[in-house]
Amino acid sequence: MSETQIHTLPANYTATTDLLGDKVILVTGAGDGIGRVAAITFAQHGATVVLAGKTLEKLEAVYDEIEAMGLPQPALCPLDLMATDLDTYKNVAEVIEEEFGRLDGLLHNAGVLGDHATLASYKPKPWLDVMQVNVNGAFLLTQALLPLLKQSPCASVVFTSSSVGRKGRAYWGAYAVSKFATEGMMQTLADELDSISKIRVNCINPGATRTRMRAQAYPAENPETLPTPEAIMPLYLYLFGDDSVNTNGCTFDAQPK
Ligand code: NDP
Repeated sequence: MSETQIHTLPANYTATTDLLGDKVILVTGAGDGIGRVAAITFAQHGATVVLAGKTLEKLEAVYDEIEAMGLPQPALCPLDLMATDLDTYKNVAEVIEEEFGRLDGLLHNAGVLGDHATLASYKPKPWLDVMQVNVNGAFLLTQALLPLLKQSPCASVVFTSSSVGRKGRAYWGAYAVSKFATEGMMQTLADELDSISKIRVNCINPGATRTRMRAQAYPAENPETLPTPEAIMPLYLYLFGDDSVNTNGCTFDAQPK
C-alpha cells in the first residue's frame, strides 16, 4: 500500500496583508479555538468572513472583535452541524447568495472529539454524534454551498483532518474514523472537481494546538508547551490565498515533524 504524501507550507511563504481582499470565506466553528483565530486572521488579510458555528454568543464575540479592529464587516451564521435536515444547509446558502452572490472559501474546521473508548465498548450515541458533526454535517454543508463556490473565480475548500485520520490509534474511536472519512471526502471531491471547476480542495492537519479540544484530549498536558492557533495560521492563509491556486487533493501538516 502506498503512503499518502504529506505536504507542508512552501519554504519562505509570507502572506501579504491584502492576500484575501475581496474574498468571502465561511469558517465553521468560528466561535472558538482554531476557527476563531482563522476567522480573525482571514479578516486581518482582507476577507469578509462568514462566522458559522453552534454557540451564537461566541460568534457574536468574534464578530465584535473583528469590528473593533476596523476589519471588513463579517456576517453571522448560526449553524449547528448536528442538523440533519437539508433546509438548514440550504438556508445558509440562501443567505450567502443574497448577501454576496458567491463564496470564495470554505474552511471546515468545526469538530467534536467524542469518547475515549475501545470500538468494542464505544456507545452508539456519541459515535453517531461525532460522525454527524465531523463528517455528515461537513458533507451537507459542502453540497449546499457548491453552487456558490462555483460562482467564485477561484475557490478554496479546506477540510480539517488529524494525525489519527491517517493512522488509526487505539481508543480514538469515532474521532479517528471521522478524520479518515474527512481525508476521503477531500480526495473524492478534489478528484471530482479537478479540471472541471476552479475549486480546489485540500486538508489541513493542525497538529497539537493549544485549544479546548486538545485540553480535553490530553488533560494532563501543560497547554503552555503547545503552539497557539495563531502559530499555525500561515498554512491556512496559503491555502485560501491565490498562491495555492494549483494545489488540489493534497493533505497538509500545519506543524511539520
Ligand atoms: P475547539 O473545541 O476549540 O473548537 C471546536 C469548534 O467546533 C468550536 O467553535 C465549536 O463550537 C465547534 N462545534 C462543535 N460542535 C459543533 C456543532 N454541532 N455545530 C457547529 N459547530 C460545532 O477545537 P479546535 O479548535 O482544537 O479544533 C478545530 C479543528 O481542528 C477540529 O476539526 C479538530 O478536530 C481539529 N484538530 C485540532 C487539533 C488540536 O490539537 N487542537 C489537532 C488535530 C485536529 P462551540 O464552541 O459553539 O461548541
